[in-house]
Amino acid sequence: MHHSTHDLLSPVPGVARQLHSFHFGPRGASKVYIQASLHADELPGMLVAWHLKQRLAELEQQGLLRREVTLVPVANPVGLEQVLLDAPLGRFELQSGENFNRNFVDLSDSIGDQVEQHLTQDAEHNLTLIREYLRRDLDLHPAVTPLQSQRLTLQRLACDADMVLDLHCDFEAVEHLYTTPEAWPQVEPLARYLGAQASLLATDSGGQSFDECFSLVWWQLQQRFGKRFPIPLGCFSVTLELRGQADVSHDLARRDCQAILDFLTHAGVIAGQAPELPDLPRAATPLAAVEPVVAPLGGLLVFHAKPGQYLEAGQLIAEVIDPLSDRVSALRNTQAGLLYARSVRRMATAGMVIAHVAGEHACRSGYLLAN
Ligand SMILES: [Zn+2]
Repeated sequence: MHHSTHDLLSPVPGVARQLHSFHFGPRGASKVYIQASLHADELPGMLVAWHLKQRLAELEQQGLLRREVTLVPVANPVGLEQVLLDAPLGRFELQSGENFNRNFVDLSDSIGDQVEQHLTQDAEHNLTLIREYLRRDLDLHPAVTPLQSQRLTLQRLACDADMVLDLHCDFEAVEHLYTTPEAWPQVEPLARYLGAQASLLATDSGGQSFDECFSLVWWQLQQRFGKRFPIPLGCFSVTLELRGQADVSHDLARRDCQAILDFLTHAGVIAGQAPELPDLPRAATPLAAVEPVVAPLGGLLVFHAKPGQYLEAGQLIAEVIDPLSDRVSALRNTQAGLLYARSVRRMATAGMVIAHVAGEHACRSGYLLAN
């Protein structure tokens, strides 16, 4: 195992922050990148990463790693220290209000312009060429804020991986994941080993999130040059939502760690025979078919449905109670689907999203992510 530290731009004199990466297995052309807790208040993945760290070190010692695995167990030190009045605030940077998992650098146009004259009919050559330009462009890209510095450091560590796993969680949720329709055939075994209750697919959900900045750059280059040159999809990425924020336990983390190792064995990263693929709990559905259920007015939120419950159209998900006027409002889904995540808050404010239901028919377009 090789341990590297990466200095982040210091916000003020006297404060130093670093990202730590752990590298296992042989260094080479292909690698797997895994990070946890980019949203710093989503901690189940950090425990999974800690278990992975021990297991990957053992596998490396046994000579069973065929490719490099890079692990970043604490992907957001900036957000991790944001505790305000006893409440951890790890999703948005307090300085800028920006979501930590948005606005990663989009390099597809500039890389496309630079590589165009060097592309050939050899897909392997094009893959290597594009990766070189990705690394070089990110190295040259300026960072003028600590947030940009953190984003760029993460993006540099992962830009030449052919597989990126980003470990998150929701508020209260069953295990689910986000990836692209193009990557789904490769991600499906992971969904099976993990027992993902929902697999939500979109090519571009609009926020330039961490996972999408890797899959999109290849997809966009393929759209631009695919008729003239063979452009492989050099990276697939997936965001794993490891249940809810409070689901930090060794039992769950060991299970998720084992699922990821089984998947890596299935993918040939780890030598050996992978266990038989379990059934997929539920077919993948479009992210555009997810219904965010909104409370149109504020009040005490009393849930009637739990994450993991399949709902018929029009089923009661929650009541919003105004204890002053005694008005009780029922919140229902319009489309049948799986309630896979709900809020941890119990006082709804008007306009608040209280739950997400994965339906089968697209009902949204444009920007598809939560804030
Ligand atoms: Zn997250």
